[in-house]
Amino acid sequence: MSSENVSVTALILRAWSALLEQTGDAVVLLDSSGVILGASAPARLLLNGGAGVLGVPFHTLVERTAEQAPADACCLPDGGAIWVRRTPLNDPDQRPLGELLLLTPGGPEAHPVDEPLDPRERQLREVTLTISSALDIETILDRVVQLSIDLIGADAGILVLYDAERDCVWTEHAIGIPRLTASGPVLRGPGVMWEIFDQGKPLLINDYMSDPRAIPSRLEQNVHAVVAVPVHTPHKMLGALGLFYLQPGRQFTRRDQHLLETVAHQTAVALENARLYQTALAEAERRSLLYRASLEFGQELELDGLFRAIHRAAARLMPCDTCVIGLLDTERQEIEYVYRADAVRCWPPERLPLNRGLPGFIVRTGVSLRITGCEPEMQAWFGAEPFGAGAQPTGSLLAVALYVGGQSIGALSVQAEASDAYTSADLDVLETLAATAAIAIQNARLFNQVQELATLDALTGVANRRHFLELAQREVERAERYHRPLSLLVVDVDHFKHINDTYGHLTGDQVLRSIAARLRDNLRENDLIGRFGGEEFLVLLPETEEEQALQAAERLRGAIGAWPVITDEGEVGVSVSIGVASHGCTGQPLSVQQLLKFADDALYVAKRRGRNQIQVAPSHA
Ligand code: GH3
Ligand code: MG
Ligand code: MG
Repeated sequence: MSSENVSVTALILRAWSALLEQTGDAVVLLDSSGVILGASAPARLLLNGGAGVLGVPFHTLVERTAEQAPADACCLPDGGAIWVRRTPLNDPDQRPLGELLLLTPGGPEAHPVDEPLDPRERQLREVTLTISSALDIETILDRVVQLSIDLIGADAGILVLYDAERDCVWTEHAIGIPRLTASGPVLRGPGVMWEIFDQGKPLLINDYMSDPRAIPSRLEQNVHAVVAVPVHTPHKMLGALGLFYLQPGRQFTRRDQHLLETVAHQTAVALENARLYQTALAEAERRSLLYRASLEFGQELELDGLFRAIHRAAARLMPCDTCVIGLLDTERQEIEYVYRADAVRCWPPERLPLNRGLPGFIVRTGVSLRITGCEPEMQAWFGAEPFGAGAQPTGSLLAVALYVGGQSIGALSVQAEASDAYTSADLDVLETLAATAAIAIQNARLFNQVQELATLDALTGVANRRHFLELAQREVERAERYHRPLSLLVVDVDHFKHINDTYGHLTGDQVLRSIAARLRDNLRENDLIGRFGGEEFLVLLPETEEEQALQAAERLRGAIGAWPVITDEGEVGVSVSIGVASHGCTGQPLSVQQLLKFADDALYVAKRRGRNQIQVAPSHA
């Protein structure tokens, strides 16, 4: 059994224990291994003179003397005799959770089955136990109505469940008579049920045909007598339970009404129990999903992959037509929408000033937002379109801050096309998810920074020598394998020492940064730039023959020399010399080192011939 299942069991059993407090019967709750988890006061009294029995295996307290369905005759250590009636508790998948035991004092001569008590009282006790052992609402509805009909001998019965918050009937279960409505919630209307919801008192109508509260459809169904009672907890109206006679001459008695009230009381307990069970299940499910998400996040060091994992996790936990992640750029005081996607599309990143848009609002205020109906006016309020860019406008949304160490680094928002798609529990869950997500985002960013430090030249931001050579090696192998052209440029600043000497080393650094930028601006996305050392740069041009490489080199030389570099010390004119070597598709395969040597030789020639020019390595085909 996994740890989640154990915790579900614990939660359910805890719910049961609380309910044991309310019963006047001697009832004991056992876990699946027979250990006592809870006992009502009469049961404690019976078993151990009122002393504690929790955690004790039940079989150590009693000795079974005879098995006699539906109860076992048992003997207590003090010599007293009891009957033990067992009701297994299973979860909806029929896995055993434990047992509920009803204890009745007395020896074999007082066997509960033979009790000369009112058989209906006995039947009622069985009914209540049967009802209580159900954990899903459908089963409870069905059992309650059927057992009530059997208990009282009525012709038909109905149990309606009331939603006090929305003042409507949300479901009803009828046996022997049609339901009043086809399906779906029913708003306030005629019928004695509403009187019961409002007043919380039972009703007994034995002349329904002439009662002013009678409704035509029930008259058509031949209803002659009705007994109906409220189903409620001390704090909440849950519904009403009613029985009918569909023939003249039969009447419900006060006694019937009292019995039905007892069933209704037990029904309320069972419904609360089922609700607690559902909550426990949902809670365990959510906890396990959150745990799974945190594991997934921890493994994802690549930011885009991480954003997708956050989206997936959110979509497993709640409605999520669109997921939006905005991260704060502290330097520029902007929000970068790093991730915005629905089930099929992903929108390109976008930036907004911090004082505009939903994520900016969340980052500035730190509040968590649940918006149940997104109005167009909201756009004006947030200062910008805050929502996803789905085909349908956003109907409702949740948005929470991504906190790391008390600092907000961004915001996470899930959005649904439907309005009212989120509960406040969803907001809590999203906050928990965001806490893990924020740390994972921060880790991935730090990891990327370290990676960058290891691969990029700190001064110019182009690839460092080691990284360039690694990437170049791959490109050369690829060119060889597929017989594709490839060229290499060695770019060297002319008289750089002089620049350093004249303007100082810091200005020299500025010039180097600016040359790197000009190289980047004048190359394609696939071209690779590296700093070889000092004032020497390398450029690898995949898919480029010698002639195009020459053109590219000319473009670079022109771009670098065209304008002086603006530095703190004023304008500094620069020029570069470039050596070119190509790895033609018909040529001999060349290694990176060979290419480098050829290009360097060509550069040497360019320097000797007066600088600010380009030379191609002599044909090496
Ligand atoms: P040439 O035209 O022959 O290339 O002459 P040059 O002065 O550019 O060549 P040389 O190799 O003599 O001098 C390169 C200078 O670059 C020497 C070194 O101090 C300087 N240098 C190397 N790395 C850096 C750096 O990171 N920043 C600065 N400002 N200068 C650097
Ligand atoms: Mg130089
Ligand atoms: Mg040099």
